[in-house]
Amino acid sequence: MARYTDSVCKLCRREGQKLFLKGERCLTPKCAMERRAFPPGMHGKKQTFRRKTSDYGLQLREKQKARRVYGVLERQFRRYFEEANRASGMTGVNLLAMLERRLDNVVYRLGLADSRAQARQIVRHGHLEVNGRKTDIPSFQVAIGDVITVRTSARNKTYFKERAQFMQSSSSVPNWLRMSVVDMKGEVLGTPAREDIEIPLNEQLIVEYYSR
Ligand code: SF4
Repeated sequence: MARYTDSVCKLCRREGQKLFLKGERCLTPKCAMERRAFPPGMHGKKQTFRRKTSDYGLQLREKQKARRVYGVLERQFRRYFEEANRASGMTGVNLLAMLERRLDNVVYRLGLADSRAQARQIVRHGHLEVNGRKTDIPSFQVAIGDVITVRTSARNKTYFKERAQFMQSSSSVPNWLRMSVVDMKGEVLGTPAREDIEIPLNEQLIVEYYSR
């Protein structure tokens, strides 16, 4: 399957804000947005002095930002939008809720990974079970009542042992999830509400982008 393989820091620089795609590094002075806070490319520096952006430009940037935060390619993102549009309620909120309910995002929000990219790798490597069944599809949509566990075979791995120690000391999960570090088990308690989504995104601009 196609995926983005270039430097993810370029994505933050393109959007002009930290998207926190690299876990710990994002909080250090090594962050590219601390050192080179201008768009990537030969003319990047000049672009920081650019004039105002059109409505279309704003909508496009917001859509790209959302895609990049959740690591979703265009075609799949459009499918999410179409499904969100068909569902009852507000399309923008439905869209964000669907992105939040992706298994890789849930693993990240439970604290089992430092970033969504790392969470995606954990899922891909088959270290997890959903409701007792091995699940290695990062886009899997969790539902209320689903139980996500680290598989017994993976619990003795150094990564999960160290992660458990880290989570004991500092872990905060959103209200719609619950995590038991001792059992390495997460539970989906509800549907993510708009205020549970920590990324500063204007979902209305995304709706406008696809409604042109
Ligand atoms: Fe973005 Fe993190 Fe790279 Fe900083 S370190 S530019 S926040 S991905």
